[in-house]
Amino acid sequence: MTAARHRRRPLVSGNWKMHHDHLQSIRTIQDLGLRLTAADVGPLDVSVHPPFTDLRSVQTVLEDRAIPVALGAQHCYSEDEGPFTGEVAPPMLARLGVSYVIVGHSERRQFFAMTDEQVAATLRAVLRHGMTPIVCVGETEEEREMGETEARLTAQATAALKGLPEEQTAALVLAYEPIWAIGTGATATGEDAESACAHIRGVVAELAGADAAQAVRIQYGGSVRPENTAELMGQRDVDGLLVGGASLDAAVLAAIIREAGPAGR
Ligand code: PEP
Repeated sequence: MTAARHRRRPLVSGNWKMHHDHLQSIRTIQDLGLRLTAADVGPLDVSVHPPFTDLRSVQTVLEDRAIPVALGAQHCYSEDEGPFTGEVAPPMLARLGVSYVIVGHSERRQFFAMTDEQVAATLRAVLRHGMTPIVCVGETEEEREMGETEARLTAQATAALKGLPEEQTAALVLAYEPIWAIGTGATATGEDAESACAHIRGVVAELAGADAAQAVRIQYGGSVRPENTAELMGQRDVDGLLVGGASLDAAVLAAIIREAGPAGR
């Protein structure tokens, strides 16, 4: 384990992807609310990212029961309104009380052809509406085998963040999500995660200065489970976790949150 991270409050986010209808989401968030104590969430921030159709229901439960979990979305479009059938605009999410929006998840890039340009435009739209983007970057298995991980991370982070003012860069969240680890059961080792997150922080320093790099939170995502949480969160440059499959079950997500708090100090 490396030295304690500097000033950054960890963020654990549950990405429910295209799982849970609104009734299942209500049950899951109620269950999570019953499991989490104030001590569990004292050392970190938590967000859940249900499908769009569930946001209003989950928001109501969070507010009604004062559950200390922030509402998140999985994606949005870069325009505020217009003829974009099927898309959801950032101000619509802001009105619903959404705090965090995942931008450029590899599944959006891979299955819906989201480009680096769209990622850059969307994260700026999210910021314009007072929400925090969680900007995902990560290499494929092939890129990793070819030794191109760092080049890929540099290219994606640069395309997303270039020209963004220092304060806005400092306030956003980046997620290192190696594509070969997402939903596969294969997890990066603590060492791999640290090396990639430290590299991303270096790219942020180049783009926005040392202060922004020190402040920006960088999550790791890819087959996180309660058993590997402590190792990942023990790394100096890993400031939280983006959890997919394991976050669908409130008991498992609560276990990850409980492990992450003390390990992330
Ligand atoms: C994700 O959805 O971003 C993710 C990391 O999924 P999983 O935890 O299932 O690998």
